[in-house]
Amino acid sequence: MRSRRARRHIYAFGGGRTDGRADMKELLGGKGANLAEMSRLGLPVPPGFTISTEVCTHYYAHGRTYPPTLRAQAKEALARVEQIAGRRFGDPANPLLVSVRSGARASMPGMMDTILNLGLNDGTIQGLIQQSGNPRFAYDSYRRFVQMYGDVVLGLKPEHQDEEDPFELALEEKKRSRGVTQDTELDADALRELVDEFKALVKMRRGVVFPEDPHEQLWGAIGAVFGSWMNQRAITYREIYRIPASWGTAVNVQAMVFGNLGDDCATGVAFTRDVANGEPGLIGEYLPNAQGEDVVAGIRTPLQITRAAARAWAERNEMPEEERREVRPSLEERMPTVYRELLRHAERLERHYRDVQDIEFTIERGRLWMLQTRVAKRTGIAAVRIAHDLAKEKRISKRSAVLRVEPEQLDQWLHPAFAPGTERTVLARGLGASPGAAVGAVVFSAEAAIQAAAAGRRTLLVRIETSPEDIGGMKAAQGFLTARGGMTSHAAIVARQMGKPCVAGCGALLIDYAHQQMTVTRPGGEPATIAAGALLSIDGATGQVFRGEVPLGAPPVSRPEFGRFMSWADEARRLRVRANADRPEEARLARALGAEGIGLCRTEHMFFEGDRIDAMREMLLADDLEGRERALAKILPMQRQDFVGILREMRGLPVTIRLLDPPLHEFLPQGEPELADLAKKLLVPVARLREKRDALHEANPMLGHRGCRLGITYPEIYRMQVEAIIQAACELARERVKVLPEIMIPLVGAVSELRILREDVEQVARAVMEKRVKVPFTVGTMIEVPRAAITAGEIAEVADFFSFGTNDLTQMALGLSRDDAGRFLPEYLRRGIYPQDPFVVIDRAGVGELMRQAIVAARRKRRDLKLGICGEHGGEPESVRFCHQLGLDYVSCSPYRVPIARLAAAQAALGT
Ligand code: ADP
Ligand code: MG
Ligand code: MG
Repeated sequence: MRSRRARRHIYAFGGGRTDGRADMKELLGGKGANLAEMSRLGLPVPPGFTISTEVCTHYYAHGRTYPPTLRAQAKEALARVEQIAGRRFGDPANPLLVSVRSGARASMPGMMDTILNLGLNDGTIQGLIQQSGNPRFAYDSYRRFVQMYGDVVLGLKPEHQDEEDPFELALEEKKRSRGVTQDTELDADALRELVDEFKALVKMRRGVVFPEDPHEQLWGAIGAVFGSWMNQRAITYREIYRIPASWGTAVNVQAMVFGNLGDDCATGVAFTRDVANGEPGLIGEYLPNAQGEDVVAGIRTPLQITRAAARAWAERNEMPEEERREVRPSLEERMPTVYRELLRHAERLERHYRDVQDIEFTIERGRLWMLQTRVAKRTGIAAVRIAHDLAKEKRISKRSAVLRVEPEQLDQWLHPAFAPGTERTVLARGLGASPGAAVGAVVFSAEAAIQAAAAGRRTLLVRIETSPEDIGGMKAAQGFLTARGGMTSHAAIVARQMGKPCVAGCGALLIDYAHQQMTVTRPGGEPATIAAGALLSIDGATGQVFRGEVPLGAPPVSRPEFGRFMSWADEARRLRVRANADRPEEARLARALGAEGIGLCRTEHMFFEGDRIDAMREMLLADDLEGRERALAKILPMQRQDFVGILREMRGLPVTIRLLDPPLHEFLPQGEPELADLAKKLLVPVARLREKRDALHEANPMLGHRGCRLGITYPEIYRMQVEAIIQAACELARERVKVLPEIMIPLVGAVSELRILREDVEQVARAVMEKRVKVPFTVGTMIEVPRAAITAGEIAEVADFFSFGTNDLTQMALGLSRDDAGRFLPEYLRRGIYPQDPFVVIDRAGVGELMRQAIVAARRKRRDLKLGICGEHGGEPESVRFCHQLGLDYVSCSPYRVPIARLAAAQAALGT
């Protein structure tokens, strides 16, 4: 008979046996998989076990119950931990205490709950006192446990951040009655009383007795961690970061180690490199005699791990070095041996994972324990610097460096920093926790930031300390300023993740939420009062806070590591990247950002500027061809100059120029008063203008008289434009400037349209070149009407190139007006009717399929047909990947998205 083994739900780590590995994140969650990996590497990890994410899935699929074999497996795993630790769970003489930690596949910092010191009760507390010889420590651990358990498992934690936590109130009351201000000043007696008071609170609020049985505590905590997967905070976080709810969380149960046993103990967080700017070298923060969350909770200001960082801190805060060594010693100075061991483990982990690590550790009586490691979140600035440096150090290949950076993260390199040298005074200084410059009106709550953003206003979210509930407001604000907390505070972590500037731990701020204002103390100056709504500027690199709006200067994009990193991306990609640019200055910017041509130069602005609009209106009002040609002749030299400008700027590179596209009514004012003004200016009766306006009115202008339909009905307009283009090209050719104009006809739906207009173009061009020199040019079309995509084979016979105009193509293919879709599209997205906004990411199934068929049909007719895209999608990474797969020759996007498209194209070519 074959025995069937029950499915494994539990994986052990620490103390010799390790069942998991780093690549088992799906099953063990990130935390569990990495605890296993560290223990495999022989790093000191307190023993424990991980309950897999499958159990979470089971839990929700089966009415919040566990698989039947779970309890037996947990019992066995716990026995192993007891054996390694040499302590027994629930043993009053020698108790084992554990932490119960959540850990999902994707890291969700602070979103779900962890419970420490579990296993304490009125019996085991005696054992803990015995073991530690430190009653104060024991009761402090006990009261923390009852509080965490009460909050998380028994549901006493307030729903809203403005409500008070009843335990915190009791704690405050205790300090008041003992005449002390710090938690650390409460003695063992006070803490013991607090434990009883906390338990009484539980009884009163929940009508239940606080569980004394450690096993009941354990299963309560495990259930709470699984339960926290569906709490509102976690749900919101998953929505923002697009983490599927189906992933579930794992639960880690781990033997406790104590950082709060005395002055030879500590707890801390470290990064193997600076995650704000990417600079090499370990950095981090620690707190002596403290437990777990204390470092990030912002209750005490943490100390620096390295001496260099501690010195920099002192300098920022104008503290003399003597005093600094006394009151703010670094870990390097305070515990040099432990520091060196930490450094060794950190380097080992970075080498092993080949990426920057974010590490949690605790020091118990001079002994270092590693509690967590994960790939560190970083700013876009740091992401590039780190990828670049790791490749230079030969830790990773250039290929993986290119794959390491999210294309959107490059955006931060293009944002301006504050202009150097401008006169300004610093209002206050905090910690530069996430670089970049932000200007906005002060708001003191997340809700206010959300409201202001809805009204289109820029804000700075100012809080004593942010918390996970603030996440929506943080998304809405330009940047964050907090009074408490360090590099690893919630505000700092979220800021780096969102790529927003943040100044943290700005101790000079005294924030008064009730009166919606703050007082800023300044050394040697009067305190300043800043009310909600006041404008402030923050520099997230230096930690400076300024009053008012500081002007912005050059972005960091010119730094050499950026150029080198982008050159690696360029070596990898096949797709070319062009820019959409209408003016010489935009073209220059695009070129500087790496554009290899212009994929869309719109010409409509050339009819609007200065007094050209008058000539255009004159043309509209003319009764016959002769009158229209007379008016257009006035515009011709100006357009020629425009084309000279942009072609010169793009010398040596192709420039696709689109002939006039919008409907003509856009050139006449619609309102009565404006019409009257214009009548006066043009010396025509207002009735005539009104008549013209009404004649041009269309019920559905986007499907109306526009694009090539104008070229068909008023050929003189396009002829004038072509004349201007070819004249400009000839003028530059004579100066030996290499020009490559590509003339693009918009909105073609039938091959005959293109045939007629192409003949026109060639005739005009021949006439111009006869009198001057010959210049190369091509004629192509946009593919933006579904009929054009479907008949692309025919159209290809008349075109030198296609450019997919995916904005119009999306509108027409989905029958979705971009200007009006706001009324229902958000609900469509929320309900998953469309997986993504089709105006942002190409709708592969519909629009994408039209493109694919068009390309197949067109290439069958003309193998050398040049293919590109010029809709907004051309700068969106997922769509760029799709364009690569389709085999397009280039994408074209707005100048600021050019680096993003270059990187996305490289990643597509590298096949991820
Ligand atoms: P999060 O996912 O929010 O970081 P963690 O599970 O990492 O939550 O735990 C919260 C804090 O408690 C961390 O500072 C962690 O290092 C600490 N901690 C967790 N387990 C233990 C343990 N067994 N011994 C000591 N400290 C622990
Ligand atoms: Mg953690
Ligand atoms: Mg269009």
